[in-house]
Amino acid sequence: MTKPFATVVDIASDIASGKTSAVEVLEQHLARITERESEINAFNLVTIEQARATAQQVDADIKASKPIGALAGVPVALKDNMCTRGIETTCSSKILEGWKPPYDATVVTRLQQAGAVMVGKTNLDEFAMGSSTENSAFGPTKNPLDTSRVPGGSSGGSAAAVAAGFAAASLGSDTGGSIRQPASLCGLVGVKPTYGLVSRQGIVAFASSLDQVGPFTHTVADAALMMEVIGGHDPLDSTSLPQPMPSLTSVLGQGVKGMRIGRLTDMPDGCEPEVLARMDAAYVALQAAGATIVDVSLPSLSYCLTAYYLVAPAEASSNLARYDGVRYGMRVETGDLHSMYGATRAAGFGAEVKRRIMLGTYALSAGYFDAYYGKALKVRRLIANDFAAAYEKCDVILTPTSPTVAFPLGDKTSDPLTMYLCDIFTIPTNLAGHAAMSVPFGTGAHNMPVGVQVLAPALGEQTMFRVAAELERAS
Ligand code: GLN
Repeated sequence: MTKPFATVVDIASDIASGKTSAVEVLEQHLARITERESEINAFNLVTIEQARATAQQVDADIKASKPIGALAGVPVALKDNMCTRGIETTCSSKILEGWKPPYDATVVTRLQQAGAVMVGKTNLDEFAMGSSTENSAFGPTKNPLDTSRVPGGSSGGSAAAVAAGFAAASLGSDTGGSIRQPASLCGLVGVKPTYGLVSRQGIVAFASSLDQVGPFTHTVADAALMMEVIGGHDPLDSTSLPQPMPSLTSVLGQGVKGMRIGRLTDMPDGCEPEVLARMDAAYVALQAAGATIVDVSLPSLSYCLTAYYLVAPAEASSNLARYDGVRYGMRVETGDLHSMYGATRAAGFGAEVKRRIMLGTYALSAGYFDAYYGKALKVRRLIANDFAAAYEKCDVILTPTSPTVAFPLGDKTSDPLTMYLCDIFTIPTNLAGHAAMSVPFGTGAHNMPVGVQVLAPALGEQTMFRVAAELERAS
């Protein structure tokens, strides 16, 4: 499939070789933002001035023959739950409106050190809770491929920014599927790294034991490069793995000969037939490239959604306790401290965030803790055991990323449960702490893109990227 916009790899090499300049590349992207952003709403903030200053610096460095980074001059967008020093970070919530963090997230620092040009902060479901970006306090983001449809979520703004050519790549966060599902719905590559491979320092916490940061790109090679820049040990994150980032760009050409690809025998209901047809085509393509297909089962898969909607809200209810009208963003003044807390939280949080806080508080409350939170942790152990058994028989497992293609705006907003079902295939990875990525693999209903999800064990990124590269070649 030919890509409509220049890739990260091409932009970086054209700027480094002097074929084009960082300023020229930036202006092309800003022109597309001017043309379509009012229709798409990918951004909460476009950082035009900072972007121009960075691009000019890159060009000056190149002119002066100074050493430049791997992403020098590449326009990138950041999900608006990543701290940027002195630049508003809202999580698309009214409660954080106007708050400017005093430091940069580690991933932001690493992008800057690599010479990337930040073009803006992207829209999301409030505090990353949702699957369509319709839970934003600042209005929904539209899918650039069909603006009557959602881009997926919660990192819908980051996905839309890349799909619309506003940035060559972007970062999102994935707690239960928020990178992979929007990547799938917007026809992009999206990576959820192994838990601990990419730093969470400076990412506003949703569910700390599940959150990971990863890239959105047009190609697998771009995703590999982005991962190499943002990944690797960070002493500022206590859950960061104590090892360097494995090389990914160097393995992309190695193919899948001799690899064992797992196919789920116990597929949940609810997948669109066109999505299942693309899955069949993916197995055929990998087989043709020399891989063997083996049947595997994940018996606990059907419990994962329930477990996730106990663990994630439980952690969120604790993480979001800090928004009390004192330390961050907005405050609703009342006569006394306690009513100020309540009034601020009532006015500042949207409906879905309140729902999660209530669910989580209930699941953790005395008398219900063992029955709900405790049980959910047991399911988490079971799915990890299921994966361990499956990975004795195969190297990676393939599933759809999303059971459906991008759906119309408003389609699922009245029924949270149908929205939650969007993540049936993505959530198990987060519960297990493993790696997974979505790769575009043709189109389904309404001519919208279908993503194939490649699941790998913890630190299986090299194998996962080899399979992803093969799927990309085949599509
Ligand atoms: N859609 C899931 C949720 O609403 C996952 C969100 C995410 O990964 N941040 O919780």
